Amino acid sequence: MSLDPAGTVMARCATLATVSEEPDRLTRRFGTAALRDANAAVAEWMRAAGMTARQDALGNLIGRYEAEQTGAKTLLLGSHLDSVIDAGKYDGPLGVLVALACVQRLHDQGRRLPFAIELLGFADEEGVRYHTTYLGSQVVAGTLAPAALELADADGITLAQAIRAFGGDPGRLAESRRSGDDLLGYCEVHIEQGPVLEARDLPVGVVSAIAGQSRIAVVLTGVAGHAGTVPMDLRRDALCAAAELVLAAEALARDTPGLVATIGQLDARPGASNVIPGQVTLSLDIRHQDDAHRERALAELRQRAERNAGARGIALDWRIVQESCALACDTALTERLARAIAALGYPLLALPSGAGHDGVAIAALTPIAMLFVRCKGGVSHNPAESVDLADVGVAIDVLGRFLLELRTED
Ligand SMILES: [Zn+2]
Repeated sequence: MSLDPAGTVMARCATLATVSEEPDRLTRRFGTAALRDANAAVAEWMRAAGMTARQDALGNLIGRYEAEQTGAKTLLLGSHLDSVIDAGKYDGPLGVLVALACVQRLHDQGRRLPFAIELLGFADEEGVRYHTTYLGSQVVAGTLAPAALELADADGITLAQAIRAFGGDPGRLAESRRSGDDLLGYCEVHIEQGPVLEARDLPVGVVSAIAGQSRIAVVLTGVAGHAGTVPMDLRRDALCAAAELVLAAEALARDTPGLVATIGQLDARPGASNVIPGQVTLSLDIRHQDDAHRERALAELRQRAERNAGARGIALDWRIVQESCALACDTALTERLARAIAALGYPLLALPSGAGHDGVAIAALTPIAMLFVRCKGGVSHNPAESVDLADVGVAIDVLGRFLLELRTED
């Protein structure tokens, strides 16, 4: 007996989860044999759904389902097929396979739409191997800096070499840039990677915006000293100053709707139980879907850190390591997704994405929209990643309906 569409998506996610660089966990980085095998498997499923399938000069997989008539516009769907190290089954592949299930349904019904569908399986979103996020989607959008080709992985293999070994052509990446002229937009289905939909008891939600992000490297320098002999009022303890910053960041984020702040790394030196910490290095990650809010929070936090450190005689070094602006999803496309959710009888929730996605790069090319699917406990980048069969069914129905909505309006 053949599986229903959601069952097929789940089974295929499970199959792809075995296509790994490592024997007992899922790791599928750019340019590896595992990614080649994953592309081959998905290409076969694409062809079975009436699509043509090919790889571009980087190694992105592109399936195409033609429109009723030639010369029609094209809608992009997709997500990524690479993974983090020790990944879950759904981050990336779910979006590709839900979209594929919708095309399969059209194909089974012998139905064509007034627009073509291109289904993209991006070859590198996570950036694990070359520390460049959105490598795949940047090639499609034509925004990848040529200097990236010289980046080397941990084994000294350059990106250009990896592309060649993968069957691509680093000299022809520019030709893989998708023209935006005939595009209707891009829509991506993805697991939420957070706990909000679960807390609201909703299978899916629309994404309002992808949060902007600042990463700061902070160094607090005081004076190391003997834990037994230096009196408390004469200490310049860098870790105590760091502790104030950690709690100030938490308090500010709690008081600012939509702001999240995280100190994920903290290193105290010299790091001995009987020595007062003389220097602390820490990371600060701040995100908000509104850039002005993020910038204001950052300025306020820096001011507080300077004041607190100054009062302790501690020097503060504050360096912005990385910054990306927030990206709003397209109102019209998102409204159509919302209507599809309402038509199926589900309450509507719009939520920002705290994580980055390929849509950030594709937005340079065409308007984007995203549909989030509930995942258990909000867990992702972890083998415990889990989604419900029924929720996958809802995602397929919503995306399918969205395609028909576009049909009636274009
Ligand atoms: Zn992802």
